[in-house]
Amino acid sequence: MDLLSMWEGTANKHVRRSELQGDESYDVAIIGGGFTGLSAAYHLQKKGCKTVVLEQGKVGAGASGRNGGEVLTGYLGSMEYWAKKKGLEKAKEMWQLSINAIDLIENIINTHRIECDFKRNGHLAAAYKPSHLESMKREQEFMAKKLDYYDLEIIDEHNMNKEMNTRFYKGGCVDKQSAHYHPYNYTLGLAEAAEQQGATIYENSKAKSITKNAHNKKVVRTEKGKITADQLVIATNAYSGDINKKIKHSVVPVESIMIATESMPAEVVSDLIKNDRAVFDTKNLLFYFRRTADNRLAFGGSGRASSKRDENRLFDNLWEGMLRVFPQLKGTRIEYRWGGKVGFTKSMLPYVGQLKDGTHFAFGYGGHGAAMATMLGKTIAEDILKEGDPDHPLRIPKLKPIPFHSQNSTGVGVVKVYKQLQDRFAR
Ligand SMILES: Cc1cc2nc3c(=O)[nH]c(=O)nc-3n(C[C@H](O)[C@H](O)[C@H](O)COP(=O)(O)OP(=O)(O)OC[C@H]3O[C@@H](n4cnc5c(N)ncnc54)[C@H](O)[C@@H]3O)c2cc1C
Repeated sequence: MDLLSMWEGTANKHVRRSELQGDESYDVAIIGGGFTGLSAAYHLQKKGCKTVVLEQGKVGAGASGRNGGEVLTGYLGSMEYWAKKKGLEKAKEMWQLSINAIDLIENIINTHRIECDFKRNGHLAAAYKPSHLESMKREQEFMAKKLDYYDLEIIDEHNMNKEMNTRFYKGGCVDKQSAHYHPYNYTLGLAEAAEQQGATIYENSKAKSITKNAHNKKVVRTEKGKITADQLVIATNAYSGDINKKIKHSVVPVESIMIATESMPAEVVSDLIKNDRAVFDTKNLLFYFRRTADNRLAFGGSGRASSKRDENRLFDNLWEGMLRVFPQLKGTRIEYRWGGKVGFTKSMLPYVGQLKDGTHFAFGYGGHGAAMATMLGKTIAEDILKEGDPDHPLRIPKLKPIPFHSQNSTGVGVVKVYKQLQDRFAR
């Protein structure tokens, strides 16, 4: 799948980094050049820890350079659900962490003047059914009463025209703290910020094996070189291959696809999503969409293709979905189509922690990594620097691989069909 993303096609610049050749030594080696790995490198190197990132493709080649750029508060599932499951105190910490994650990104962008069109205009969760709006109202009440959070605003169906020019939704809920950005430009900016602190980043340098030497140091081999390091971070998320089976078997990769229109006159695109929010809806197979700084509509959904024909059908379906939401876009050209992998965990929450041999990891952000991955990269850095919070709300003491993981792609397919039926028949 992959294909050139609109973000890469409209990037500020195209940077090529060299491939690792020969033997080098560092305090910390990081595998994976997305938000998680780059943020860990940035925060480690800021504290004087000599750090290297190994990326198998280009920086941002995984999900970080290809996502919707919706920088969202919260997690998969309502906070009322997480409070029931984890207790109110943990839920409060989780929520605060998600707000801090967006503050952190804003801070990095401002400090390093990263040009990535960051806008903190909030998100709009659009209700697909009246019952979804009722759940949103309940959640708003819960958030105010129990979590002292007052930045949610319910939009009734008859007021939706103040937010969007569509009749597709039955109302919605705005969260004023969320943001959006150009994800590829942010990734490139984060990589440059890490390099400015002194970090080294190698591209086209796939980690092929991990061993230990006689001094108990980690040794990571690539095709043309070798890194020896005191500490190791694996930040490969949904792109985890066989470099570590435990991590690979703890993350379920799910394909997500996106299309982007040609640039439109500013008044046309600003009429679609009036307040320039990051939008996602409440269908089980959700749509997520937003305006871009160059006046396109970027529109995403889920889909896994096993052939080129399949792939065309998926993109056509997504385009039809876009026209169901915004019929006024009929005749507007689609300029980009691309896809990538989103990583999920069994609990549906992101994980941060260490393997038995001390290797650090963070992954499984669901559709929330544009905010949380930078934060958990920082958490990894703090853990390595022994400044970490042992009670971090997303810390997992022991990684438990998902049973029958290899059959999960089939499982995901089955769940998808089931959810499609639910969408069609639920009221
Ligand atoms: C189409 C799409 C839309 C999305 N939309 C949103 C959104 O709007 N909002 C949101 O919050 N989240 C969204 N997400 C999810 C979000 O992009 C991810 O959660 C986030 O980018 C994860 O960052 P990461 O650094 O952990 O992983 P990645 O960015 O995937 O980085 C992992 C990196 O590891 C590298 N790698 C793997 N194996 C090796 C190896 N052996 N050696 C060297 N390198 C290796 C890969 O090449 C990759 O670059 C979306 C994802 C996709 C695919």
